[in-house]
Amino acid sequence: MKVLISADMEGTCGVVSWVHVMPPEYGDGGEPTNQTEYERARARMTAEVNAAVEGAYAGGADEVIVNDSHDGMRNLLPDELDRRVRFVSGNDKPLGMVQGVDLDGVGCLFYTGYHAKAGTPAAPLAHTWSGWLNDVRLDGVSTGEFGINAAVAGAYGVPVVFVCGDDKAVAQTQGMLGAQVVGVAVKEGISTFAALHLHPARARELIRDGAERAVRDASAATPWTLPAGCRVELDFDHQARADQAAFVPGVERVGERTIAWEAADGKAFGRTFRAVMKAASIRMSP
Ligand SMILES: [Zn+2]
Repeated sequence: MKVLISADMEGTCGVVSWVHVMPPEYGDGGEPTNQTEYERARARMTAEVNAAVEGAYAGGADEVIVNDSHDGMRNLLPDELDRRVRFVSGNDKPLGMVQGVDLDGVGCLFYTGYHAKAGTPAAPLAHTWSGWLNDVRLDGVSTGEFGINAAVAGAYGVPVVFVCGDDKAVAQTQGMLGAQVVGVAVKEGISTFAALHLHPARARELIRDGAERAVRDASAATPWTLPAGCRVELDFDHQARADQAAFVPGVERVGERTIAWEAADGKAFGRTFRAVMKAASIRMSP
């Protein structure tokens, strides 16, 4: 079985600030960044991915492919990765955070470094895709990146079997996708910008062991598929974003800051989601 790892960054042990996960070029926009803090966090992100890779091979994986899934998707340190992997880096990718899920033989999906959905209390760096997307609902059920990506992967027949990140991210992922997802909480969220962490070395031990179990049991896991004709609703932080997103064919404006559409399946959902997010990504003071 081939394993795909969708590697995000905010849920990494030791990470609690945007400074940890923002590459320094973001400083151009006026946001505070810190090269040293970012470099340390990306090394720890890479080490957690390696722990998951080691566990996956111990559990019987034939191949592990890693998809860098954070921000510009150039965070993993290639030379530090386990030499058995192939990896995807860079943006834009048609399948975004699950690029590679369409490759022949991919049988299960891991989430590493995952975070909770927008609005979650006591969850470090909780958000959904962007700081300006307030909520995503699938047939009325609020979800985050764990749900968006599960729906796309499910359309390719690939189930999620492992998640590591903060405790709320793990609980939300398992709450939506079920107990087939092995969860490893590397930190307990205290607030949006604080957490009680395990020691990073202990976190990696637990990730390795959890990943091994996840692959051993993966053949019994079922993909999460979007109900046919699923009603998708997105709430933005500002009406100007909804103005733009509603130009996407098939999408309607249903509220002051809310758009909606009907998705035929997970693949169609993923494409329209990317289109509306691009359309809504505007300067707020043109
Ligand atoms: Zn991220």
